[in-house]
Amino acid sequence: MKHNFGAGPGILPHEVLKQASEAVIDFNGTGLSLLEISHRSKEFEAVLDEAVALVKELFSVPEGYSVLFLQGGASTQFAMAPYNLLPSNGKAAYLETGVWANKALKEAKYFGEVEIVASSKASNFTYIPKDYTIPADAAYFHITSNNTIYGTQLQEFPKSPIPVVCDMSSDIFSRKINVADFGLIYAGAQKNMGPAGVTLVIVKDEILGKVDRKIPAMLNYQTQIEGGSMYNTPPVFAIYVSMLTLNWLKAKGGVEAIEQENITKARVLYEEIERNPIFKPVCAVEDRSHMNVTFVMENPELEKPFLKLCDERGIVGIKGHRSVGGFRASIYNALPITSVYALIDVMQEFAELNK
Ligand SMILES: *Cc1c(COP(=O)(O)O)cnc(C)c1O
Repeated sequence: MKHNFGAGPGILPHEVLKQASEAVIDFNGTGLSLLEISHRSKEFEAVLDEAVALVKELFSVPEGYSVLFLQGGASTQFAMAPYNLLPSNGKAAYLETGVWANKALKEAKYFGEVEIVASSKASNFTYIPKDYTIPADAAYFHITSNNTIYGTQLQEFPKSPIPVVCDMSSDIFSRKINVADFGLIYAGAQKNMGPAGVTLVIVKDEILGKVDRKIPAMLNYQTQIEGGSMYNTPPVFAIYVSMLTLNWLKAKGGVEAIEQENITKARVLYEEIERNPIFKPVCAVEDRSHMNVTFVMENPELEKPFLKLCDERGIVGIKGHRSVGGFRASIYNALPITSVYALIDVMQEFAELNK
């Protein structure tokens, strides 16, 4: 039994993997694999419809928003958002809270002016800046809800006079949000929603159509909306597994229920990091992520032996990102609290051994 704390692609529910593997051989009794049927078959259309319906239900998506399943990952959204939303004589506002935010704003610079309203770069992104003004004359304000690498998370979303564009790749469906607060939400599925290969986009229809540049069909939200995410062949397997994962989440009680679990998982783990003399936290208390828990050692020489003990105990994927060092325990929706307790046990065992 492995406890999978990997940052991404991340853990998926076991029953989802089992159902998905069965569909690869025989999809819903059709005698065909999910991988060899037409994406325009009624069987697959039902999958896509159900996935869209689940997104709408789980997030209570209001009227006037479109739900898309696209390809190219969140990284394509870094470009697609400004391509569609940033007029060439206009500007966009960005909150720089980490490497992903930085990559997003770099892409926006191809399309117009970028104003970085605040940045925590000087302190290696260990906190979320809060003291800033959103320029009312910008086309949109881009934020990253959870900074996967550093382990910070926006606990509250800004009240903004302009549409908010949010990269939710690493905390999508981990907590309740009010979709009406956003103009555009996007998330690569592979952290908290499904497998790699599909990107969820929730876009407010009325913010589109305001730039006059020509946009290639695949990168145009309007084309994708008109095509119902099927302008071209969609990533059928990734959408199917995402649909199964969303169904799993619904059966667990939805976003409200998982949010409570996630809060508990994060709380017990941060408590241990605070309490255990070997480890210390990295980020500002009020900005700590409920998804990616980063921590370091008082004595970095003990890192290797700790990782070795983790390996022996089936704790997988907790080595920190190279830009932060130390450790990162990703505790996504599908990670059971028993795995968090298993990690805490190893931390305590290690502290005993190194007294
Ligand atoms: C992983 C990640 C990305 C990159 O996603 P891709 O789907 O690989 O392009 C972007 N933003 C955040 C916050 C991430 O965690």
